[in-house]
Amino acid sequence: DRYTKQDVIDLVRENDVQFIRLQFSDVFGTLKNVAITARQLEKALDNKCMFDGSSVDGFVRIEESDMYLYPDLDSFLIFPWHSQSGKVARLVCDVYGQDGLPFIGDSRYILKKVLRTSKKLGYNFNVGPECEFFLFHTDEEGCPTTLTHEKASYFDVAPLDLGEAARRDMILNLENMGFEIEASHHEVAPAQHEIDFKYDNALRTADNILTFKFVVKYIAKRHGLYASFMPKPISGVDGSGMHLNMSLWREGQNIFADSRGDLGLSDEAYHFMAGLMKHAPEMSLITNPLVNSYKRIVPGYEAPVDISWSPANRSPLIRVPTARGSGTRLEFRSPDSAANPYLALAVSLAAGIDGLENKLQPGKASTKNQYEVTERAKLKAGIGSLPRDMKEALDLFKDSQFMKEVLGQHIFDRYLDAKQGEWESYQKTVSQWEIDEYLYKI
Ligand code: GLN
Ligand code: MG
Ligand code: MG
Ligand code: MG
Repeated sequence: DRYTKQDVIDLVRENDVQFIRLQFSDVFGTLKNVAITARQLEKALDNKCMFDGSSVDGFVRIEESDMYLYPDLDSFLIFPWHSQSGKVARLVCDVYGQDGLPFIGDSRYILKKVLRTSKKLGYNFNVGPECEFFLFHTDEEGCPTTLTHEKASYFDVAPLDLGEAARRDMILNLENMGFEIEASHHEVAPAQHEIDFKYDNALRTADNILTFKFVVKYIAKRHGLYASFMPKPISGVDGSGMHLNMSLWREGQNIFADSRGDLGLSDEAYHFMAGLMKHAPEMSLITNPLVNSYKRIVPGYEAPVDISWSPANRSPLIRVPTARGSGTRLEFRSPDSAANPYLALAVSLAAGIDGLENKLQPGKASTKNQYEVTERAKLKAGIGSLPRDMKEALDLFKDSQFMKEVLGQHIFDRYLDAKQGEWESYQKTVSQWEIDEYLYKI
């Protein structure tokens, strides 16, 4: 534990923090916060900060709407920028009901629950995310567009890369907040970027993904740009993923590494991988939650389409990067940044644990570019596919006992209802593609 209550109070005073954002997440991973002034800090640290849960998506009905925020002291962090009204800090909170029990609709609680189960088995779960995003221009009214004048591509440098100044500013701000930035570069598509921060335990990483997105958007805005984590904002170029690099640890050791194992991986690594592969399709509604998510996971854009793994190649669902020792990890490549990070990590860990407990095997590594393997060959090799659209993902999710168990009935139902509504709304809308394709022909 990093901080005591008194530490937080002292830090706020010493750093002239005027506002504290009490941060939590709705069921869809949207960052919510209640801002309090420094004067109310002690009350908040005594878990007495109340809010109306009925106005939060996927939470509760009006009749039972008083909820409480219990700040996680270790999550205390100061935003490095100054405003006229002093500095701002954040505290990530757990949501509790009036009965003093954790609220079952709090996705952070769901992740904690899965982490507790894995802890009982002796495992710590570490995750490092790679969030990709686009930097777009805004129009005269300041509204986001999908326009960019940029022509740079993978690993290009300025002056081609107009977003570089913004990206550098993001990194400096993140580092000032205590994020350890491991890599950052221009991505494949024009105006597409990636900033990677160091892995941490899954709970911290989920907290940090939400803060990371907030900071990236905030700094982009200061540069007159709009940062979007939308999975596929532009047809015909790469979409943006959120690769998750996962490892299990026991007593400070990465247990995915084993120099005697195949490719230097342990049996645990293979079982975990097999669990992810088994459950990935039914998990897709969580890891790839939007109609638009499925326009990213198509052949040809370095996003996975099949349930396969490989030590090198970037078309499969799971890649094993070459690092061994403490850096040994599985890179789960289907998730995108639209996912609720708490739920995405909860279902991933639960899937991996299922693989471990049932000693599942992932089968042979794919050595080919999966985009070029024919449907017939896949069928013969028993290689499954990820859902092709949100409807398929919905159907798999709806029938999944596993998802219901991991998420609990409350979140499962709220999530399903909302996503079903989203699909129906999409389904009823005539798109520009249909007009272009059919209007003149028929
Ligand atoms: N943008 C790709 C995706 O959608 C990944 C590209 C990369 O990181 N090599 O997942
Ligand atoms: Mg990367
Ligand atoms: Mg990338
Ligand atoms: Mg990657």
